[in-house]
Amino acid sequence: MMTYIFYGLVTLSAVVGMEFMAWFAHKYIMHGFLWSWHEDHHQPHHEKDGFFEKNDLFFLVFAIPSALCYIIGLSTTHFWLLFIGIGISIYGLIYFLIHDVYIHQRFKWFRQLDSRYSRAILRAHGAHHAKRTKEDGESFGLLVVSKKYFKKRKHWSKTA
Ligand SMILES: [Zn+2]
Ligand SMILES: [Zn+2]
Repeated sequence: MMTYIFYGLVTLSAVVGMEFMAWFAHKYIMHGFLWSWHEDHHQPHHEKDGFFEKNDLFFLVFAIPSALCYIIGLSTTHFWLLFIGIGISIYGLIYFLIHDVYIHQRFKWFRQLDSRYSRAILRAHGAHHAKRTKEDGESFGLLVVSKKYFKKRKHWSKTA
């Protein structure tokens, strides 16, 4: 029983830790020395052709540590690493569903999703995309959203 809880917590910490890793990579690597891979993600849609962006290469990059965790976790006594690998995969899936599908609508799924939190995510990432340049960006994270992107509504109305 305790081991299940332990592996569950390892998985959860990996998912949470990945939000920080993604923020760090986005701010210091993608807007740093690998800007040439990330640049096309900051171009408006009408200037792009095709489904894929160079930016998608980062999915492959993040798959490497995840794959290593699966391999090492299953082939050594460090079995817990398997759950780090699973956590990284879960975060990758969340990132894809929120960032690529919900925000950028690469697939037309769950567009009707609407809540204070989902709007805050949209605003925060919209603020990130307001800049097309490598420097002076803001809001590099995805799920952890600054308080300023949450707008209080004074009156709840059914039409809003
Ligand atoms: Zn960016
Ligand atoms: Zn984006």
